[in-house]
Amino acid sequence: MKASKFYISTLREAPSEAVIASHKLMLRAGITRKLGNGLYTYLPMGVRSLYKLENIIREELEETAGALEFKPTVIVPGDLWKESGRWETMGAQMLKAKNRAEQDMVVSPTAEEAYTAIVRDGLDSYKQLPVNFYQINTKYRDEIRPRYGVMRGREFIMMDGYTMNADDASLDESYNAYEEAYFRIFKRLGLKIIPVKADSGAMGGSGSEEFMVESPIGDDTLIICPNEKCGYAANVEKAECAADESVNKKGEKVPATTLPLEDVATPNVFSIEDMEKFFDESPKMFVKALIYRVINSSLDLSKATGSDKWQQVKDPAGDYYPLSYACVLIRADLDVNEAKLAATLKASEVVLAEADEVLEYAGAPHGFVGPMTAKCPLIVDYSVIKDGEAQMHDAIAGAGKEGFHVKHVEPMRDFVPFINADLRTAKEGDKCACCGGTFYTRKGNELGHIFKLGHKYTKSMHVTFLGQNGKPTEPTMGCYGIGVDRTLASIIETNNDEKGIIWPMSVAPFQVCIVPIKYDGQMKEVADKLYEELKSAGIEVFLDDRNERPGVKFADMELIGIPLRITVGDKNLPNVEFKPRAASEAELVPATEAGAKAVQFVKDELAKLKA
Ligand code: ATP
Ligand code: MG
Repeated sequence: MKASKFYISTLREAPSEAVIASHKLMLRAGITRKLGNGLYTYLPMGVRSLYKLENIIREELEETAGALEFKPTVIVPGDLWKESGRWETMGAQMLKAKNRAEQDMVVSPTAEEAYTAIVRDGLDSYKQLPVNFYQINTKYRDEIRPRYGVMRGREFIMMDGYTMNADDASLDESYNAYEEAYFRIFKRLGLKIIPVKADSGAMGGSGSEEFMVESPIGDDTLIICPNEKCGYAANVEKAECAADESVNKKGEKVPATTLPLEDVATPNVFSIEDMEKFFDESPKMFVKALIYRVINSSLDLSKATGSDKWQQVKDPAGDYYPLSYACVLIRADLDVNEAKLAATLKASEVVLAEADEVLEYAGAPHGFVGPMTAKCPLIVDYSVIKDGEAQMHDAIAGAGKEGFHVKHVEPMRDFVPFINADLRTAKEGDKCACCGGTFYTRKGNELGHIFKLGHKYTKSMHVTFLGQNGKPTEPTMGCYGIGVDRTLASIIETNNDEKGIIWPMSVAPFQVCIVPIKYDGQMKEVADKLYEELKSAGIEVFLDDRNERPGVKFADMELIGIPLRITVGDKNLPNVEFKPRAASEAELVPATEAGAKAVQFVKDELAKLKA
């Protein structure tokens, strides 16, 4: 390709709203342009890298994961989403529309429904399973806060794969094959990936892993065990840690008490810090009680305290309570992990209750909420009770009336859980439950996700096949996603310097650029010859034949980040300058050898990424 025939659109400065390196560089190098909030257009230079990335994904999925590409529509009938139950539960991030016949339509935020409907129609026998399809297609999510350019856009491109499997063993195979394919994909893109265990409870899945890149601007917090043999790494939404004992401020374990509960007037004690001062005790001796509003819980709450006030909605996809409440109990030095709580309650969302709701369900304002007087089910963390045994003794809690706390609280004697679960947020310094190592944390960005969905969609959308035993059987499913643009942005985020992008060879828009100091006379002749030579060797070569000052051409090629530059200048002829983008110095080589050397360079770089 010649620059004179191409569309180069570089900017000296990035618009001020771009604050991270990849967003700035994508705009400055002419890779993307903003069309609206969260809406980005890829310019011709960007499309080249984008399609290369997509093709690497295609190759590895087909070779390693045995997946076949299909191409569903982006607009999907709303009826399918009503079948699955997600028409109601997806919330405001799903863009809905009506067609001229007033039929409901969805702009796909994801495609479980479309895949399930398509495969359902042709499925008869176990012999057809597994069905392993993927697409690379446009998605739309009406994100509240799109930011960082294509890292979190509203319209974006996702690779989404889906498998329908006859049984769990087959699903495990598909899941493992995708995992393997992901490792190969990210290796070829030159990205160092941290696979982490992820939250999957709320969606009813049984296994889930996220593929993260470490990044200071990451939206996720990763909890990592430093012990390499152990290798435990998890999203904070899911991370579990070893239990640590409740001890008093002297560091002693406190025995169970037989003393009765005793109210203590605590008129000005509202916070945990106030309690520490007033009782002169460690927060490890306090039970913290929090009232939560619970949205769309699919638990059976008919036997729960307070359930007479809540309405259960009958739904073919599973009955649920649009609104209910819970009182969460946890040791006061710990924090409730709302992702774990939502998963435990099989809810789409949990939110701390407002003052009037707290009064209604605790009989007291925030600060005095107590386990013995709560008018909603007690959801108790393992730090308070585990396996039917109290983990704290002679504790202090809110009394459930304004201005009072209560002493000598014995969990299990004075209250029992409606549900007992791991609800605490693991943090830096907590101990690994597997090996005892001390956790550290990192910020991460999620590039991909693999997920065992189980029967969620095959049940709600009534998919069956005739099993080997001749009986109708419900298949199980897996889903697998990679954020294509976010991955492209992450490559730039980790490969750049003050001059611009440093593309890995595998996704560079062009592999080699030739820059004649002046496109004229002997320099033109040598440059043209090299250009033809590289083209016929199958190299993606860019010839900067523009009538611009050399400084402008160098700056553009460095900003765009082409991995190798060959400079043809009359001062150096018959030699030319050979300069890898990542190297600090150029090397002089005879023009007659430069072509072969460039071909070898491209090959070596690609091989490094494939190994
Ligand atoms: P996030 O927590 O970042 O919102 P998610 O859990 O909603 O991600 P999935 O539904 O698992 O994401 O989608 C699969 C992949 O699509 C993600 O791993 C991510 O790389 C990408 N992705 C999701 N939302 C966006 C977005 N708004 N812009 C760009 N990529 C996205
Ligand atoms: Mg999201």
